[in-house]
Amino acid sequence: MSQQGYVATPPYSQAQPGIGLSPPHYGHYGDPSHTASPPNMMKPSGPLGAATPGGMLPPGPPPPGTHQFGQNGAHASGHPPQRFPGPPPLNNAAPSYPPYSASTPSAYPSPGSTSSVTQLGNQLSAMQMNNYGSSMGAPNQGPPGPPAAALPGPSRPPPPSILQPGSQVLPPPPTALNGPGPSPMSPPTHRPDGLPGPAPPNAHYQPPPLPGQTLGTGYPPQQAANYGAQMAGPQLGYPGGFPGGPAQMAGLPQPQKKLDPDAIPSPIQVIENDIASRGGQVYATNTRGQVPPLVTTDSVIQDQGNASPRYIRCTTYCFPCTSDMAKQAQIPLAAVIKPFATIPSNETPLYLVNHGETGPVRCNRCKAYMCPFMQFIEGGRRYQCAFCSCVNDVPPFYFQHLDHMGRRLDHYEKPELSLGSYEYVATLDYCRKNKPPNPPAFIFMIDVSYSNIKNGLVKLICEELKTVLENLPKEEQEEASAIRVGFITYNKVLHFFNVKSNLAQPQMMVVTDVGEVFVPLLDGFLVNYQESQSVIHNLLDQIPEMFAESNENETVFAPVIQAGMEALKAADCPGKLFIFHSSLPTAEAPGKLKNRDDKKLVNTDKEKVLFQPQSGVYEALAKDCVAHGCSVTLFLFPSQYVDVASMGLVPQLTGGTLYKYNNFQMQLDSHQFLTDLRNDIEKKIGFDAIMRVRTSTGFRATDFFGGIFMNNTTDVEMAAIDCDKAVTVEFKHDDKLGEDSGALIQCAVLYTTISGQRRLRIHNLGLNCSSQLGDLYKSCETDALINFFAKSAFKAILHQPLKVIREILVNQTAHMLACYRKNCASPSAASQLILPDSMKVLPVYMNCLLKSCVLLSRPEISTDERTFQRQLVMTMDVADSQLFFYPKLLPIHTLDVKSTTLPAAVRCSESRLSEEGIFLLANGLNMFLWLGVSSPPEVIQGIFNVPSFAHINTDMTLLPEVGSPYSQKLRMIMSILQQKRPYSMKLTVVKQREQPEMGFRQFLVEDKGLYGGASYVDFLCCVHKEICQLLR
Ligand SMILES: [Zn+2]
Repeated sequence: MSQQGYVATPPYSQAQPGIGLSPPHYGHYGDPSHTASPPNMMKPSGPLGAATPGGMLPPGPPPPGTHQFGQNGAHASGHPPQRFPGPPPLNNAAPSYPPYSASTPSAYPSPGSTSSVTQLGNQLSAMQMNNYGSSMGAPNQGPPGPPAAALPGPSRPPPPSILQPGSQVLPPPPTALNGPGPSPMSPPTHRPDGLPGPAPPNAHYQPPPLPGQTLGTGYPPQQAANYGAQMAGPQLGYPGGFPGGPAQMAGLPQPQKKLDPDAIPSPIQVIENDIASRGGQVYATNTRGQVPPLVTTDSVIQDQGNASPRYIRCTTYCFPCTSDMAKQAQIPLAAVIKPFATIPSNETPLYLVNHGETGPVRCNRCKAYMCPFMQFIEGGRRYQCAFCSCVNDVPPFYFQHLDHMGRRLDHYEKPELSLGSYEYVATLDYCRKNKPPNPPAFIFMIDVSYSNIKNGLVKLICEELKTVLENLPKEEQEEASAIRVGFITYNKVLHFFNVKSNLAQPQMMVVTDVGEVFVPLLDGFLVNYQESQSVIHNLLDQIPEMFAESNENETVFAPVIQAGMEALKAADCPGKLFIFHSSLPTAEAPGKLKNRDDKKLVNTDKEKVLFQPQSGVYEALAKDCVAHGCSVTLFLFPSQYVDVASMGLVPQLTGGTLYKYNNFQMQLDSHQFLTDLRNDIEKKIGFDAIMRVRTSTGFRATDFFGGIFMNNTTDVEMAAIDCDKAVTVEFKHDDKLGEDSGALIQCAVLYTTISGQRRLRIHNLGLNCSSQLGDLYKSCETDALINFFAKSAFKAILHQPLKVIREILVNQTAHMLACYRKNCASPSAASQLILPDSMKVLPVYMNCLLKSCVLLSRPEISTDERTFQRQLVMTMDVADSQLFFYPKLLPIHTLDVKSTTLPAAVRCSESRLSEEGIFLLANGLNMFLWLGVSSPPEVIQGIFNVPSFAHINTDMTLLPEVGSPYSQKLRMIMSILQQKRPYSMKLTVVKQREQPEMGFRQFLVEDKGLYGGASYVDFLCCVHKEICQLLR
């Protein structure tokens, strides 16, 4: 197979400028050894050398038995014991390390020989493209018929000849993705029919908008006016580019048979199979390179030397030995790291290691932290670094004898020797200005312009703060939170409040110079909530009254962030701003924005401009914020375009969160907003963080995606990072990797805790390396691949035309699968589509990504909504991106009300719905309860307490508490779906064949998209053809 014509590295995922040119920047700031480092400390090239003991890595599995960590007795003395969380019993019922041979599922459950590949050849090669069957009634019926010849009736059996290999390979579609432009993958000359142009636009298959219809949920109404007209036109670029069918099929002499959707790989099946084989089990991390259970499978993780998959997941757990091999397969090598992931109560929390004033033990050369991968030698006096091979002296305080296997006698007493993840107490060297940090502060900043007062939002926020402030995060052993709080309101000017505990009344100070914001008061602005409670409550009661008569419509925004940041700076503490804002900031001030939304740019090369901030003010502000440990979380309540690309930039780059409630209505949306607010205030979070990802010799981290800021190519700076945020890291080879030594990753996050302690959180993960492509494919994780592809593509849309990005995604998908087919699969007919077991659902998930509203260039979708979703995905972990791109669809009408488990999910396709059915759909942002027109009355009664379908008033975002078993069960299911998700999902009740159904149907991701985008079947066919083309 020729590699020519392929971009081995997608252009958008190339390393940032400067990578590999500037000398690596080691160590965290303040590290005294940093300046003493040799100028170029890149790992030496080449294998570790003969001196390296072959059995050095990975650390052998711990012996079965009852090793427990001591109560920190081995640690340096003189440190307050309360700093240690204290090892909880690892497992009351079982030894801490159950015999791994018995309890650990095999690293990669080997499927039966027949299931290792999915062979769909005959069906695919002869499939009928038009798979948009309709069971939904009116809106779907009677699409304009394509040419009759192109659509033979499904009942006509294919002639036997069609099954012969060779003759069935369809010509490539005239375009890969984007309409008439020729694709590099599929030159038009291959078209046997000679028909010019692309396939007819798939718009013909889309239901026309209903009269008076507005856009689906979540889209501002101001676009509704354009909607009908834009839907109908033939100007569709994107969907027409997919093999939508009739035109390209017309040239084929044979009648086509319909592809059975049940015969193509089902995400539900893959998820269920994994649950059946690995669900509920203990997954011990003692084996390097083992593939963890899927994110959709519940298991109990036991750290035995590698970081839990809750902290790190990889696109593949076996890296190719050489960069040539990596280029050949084009499988991204990436890790999705969620350093502050929430650990369930039945798993062990992180141990805290305290070496006192000496601080953590680190390699002299590469600064890697002591970890299970380090190899002790010379009777324990020295150790060889697993990352750079440097041999280091063991500091005297840290010396320990070795046992007959060369392992330290205290191996199981020290978390940093035997666990994948742990924390260190950081010394002053790791603190700004070499002094301990102050505890962080939260500043609440409320937009009190006219509309926010009028619609009651200000009152709602103030009322809620009175209760949520009782739950400020605190250390487990502490009685009260150390976090201080402050309050600012604003419209065109800023109001600071003095809420010092000894005041009878809060005092307001107005700052009118928004051009150069200063902080008018220090003492009394940031206070302890408990101490100032009465003054604060007094203030929160007064704020809605104070501005009740205000007619001020204009707001500022950048000066608000500036003010919060300056206040934190003045108090010399990190912190978080909670900003509640509604409108485009048009008042005269830095960061003033104008409405520059332009639908004409959609689907042009200039579309990227829509995703870029309007001015440089916000990026500069974000940089300042990160430098001072100021994270910004923004609650947006827009009723029209607010330029999320500009306003959301600071939250994005400072590790904050962006929440958006379109056309906020008090009655319907309060629940969602207040739930988000409570969760955000209470969630686990670290401040003023720097993350550094170190790797063993032969590869390195080259690109980072997430809510991060980077001043250089290696230090990932985060003003804050909370338990829901993940950073995706891409790796590239810079040398060969050895099969023996593997590929080791160490992620270190230096941060300030909510009580003001400086700590280091370390996660280690060992991956395998192989020179066999088969090993690489066997160890892939599709959910992590999609997370990587989504983030790299969403980052790239700032700089490249979306069309190019979509093409790259399709090409790379085909390439990965073609390489497998050519090098790993057993010989078979060319027409057969063969998918590696680990990538069975890659095509369907990739198609979901391609038709996400971010990548879909469609004017019907609001720019703000696309920008918002883009930003959310950039910080998602693997579980959240999996659900986001492939929503969960649950049948409700067949509920077993006595069961305590979730009903089995069904595939996201209209064909799985039925008129008699009721279905619940969730994607992490939205939840829909869909009601078929013939829903069983007893279920309707049970859920809504009304006698029939016709009686249901869908104008609700919360289900009534009926008290019936159906109601209780459904509400329980909804709360299970909501658990562990970073955003509160808004519920929309939709009736079949009524207008809001459109909002629901865009999530039936296996079907053709409402606004374009291929069906799963069509996309699979498109990818198959690309593969065939590659294999020629
Ligand atoms: Zn080293």
